Amino acid sequence: MEFSLIDRIRERTAQGRDDVRLGIGDDAALLTVPAGQELAVAIDTLVEGVHFPIGTASADIGWKALAVNLSDLAAMGATPAWALLALSLPKAEPAFIDELATGFAQLARAYRLALVGGDTTRGALTLSVAVHGFVPPGKALLRAGAQVGDVVFVTGTLGDAAAGLALLQRGGNADARSAYLIERLNRPTPRVAAGLALRGHAHACIDVSDGLLADLGHICTSSQVAAEIEVSLLPRSSALLDLFDDATSRQFALSGGDDYELCFTVPAQHVADVQADLARLGCGATRIGRIVEGSGVRVRDADGQWLEPEHRGWDHFGV
Ligand code: ADP
Ligand code: MG
Repeated sequence: MEFSLIDRIRERTAQGRDDVRLGIGDDAALLTVPAGQELAVAIDTLVEGVHFPIGTASADIGWKALAVNLSDLAAMGATPAWALLALSLPKAEPAFIDELATGFAQLARAYRLALVGGDTTRGALTLSVAVHGFVPPGKALLRAGAQVGDVVFVTGTLGDAAAGLALLQRGGNADARSAYLIERLNRPTPRVAAGLALRGHAHACIDVSDGLLADLGHICTSSQVAAEIEVSLLPRSSALLDLFDDATSRQFALSGGDDYELCFTVPAQHVADVQADLARLGCGATRIGRIVEGSGVRVRDADGQWLEPEHRGWDHFGV
């Protein structure tokens, strides 16, 4: 169905790869997994008004639908290769499709990722992207490997996307700092190179999609350990700190979603190597706490007090 729309998508996302024997156009794609590699697969769905605000530019929607999936591959330490795109659209508008495919392709090209198929139907605006990547057997970064004594790190800065969303909901956001935060919401950067660099060093890794507390909580649950983090160490951008008061920016950093940074744990003897490797990639990572015995995530305030759950922002941000 809708072949002209599919052709428009295919033209804009074309990517030559030897491992794609047959891409868009037949009943299924035919792909060759490199010998000796495991296939890492993930899928995420974005629904208009739920996962991106109504009115988001179509190029940003295309970018974000791929970015959130590449972030999952990054968190596994996998090299991206292929994607499928299932698209549900209220109406067949060529200009909208062209921009959406262009935003998708901008990010895909950076990773030589090929869009090899998908599905197109009529309905509420919804994008499901499935991604496929490669990882050497046994080398994937899991949530389950954290050990007592590990140092907890996070890449980049936290809370920017939640701040961007708050600014959009408030309206009026013409200045450069607001634009930066809104860009962080609409065009997240998947930390693919960082994920690859962490293979063999990190014990556990997850991408921060639902907020640091929730996602670090998943590492703790899977690994049967607890984490202690220090609010004073949370990396926050100057734009976030300039535009929001300390309590709000702290809540965004602890509980805001959509940042797509990596949170990972590293044994003490690998900390220096990891910091050097990530610095070389131009992807800063900040030490925010450590893994201890027990369960759950505990948060210590700047004055050394443990924060109670109601002060962490769980309720406000629906973690
Ligand atoms: P079928 O009915 O056999 O599933 P479709 O008409 O749905 O065929 O799709 C035709 C071809 O176009 C298939 O190769 C499919 O993978 C591809 N395709 C459909 N929609 C998309 C899309 N949104 N993005 C990429 N490829 C798509
Ligand atoms: Mg189909």
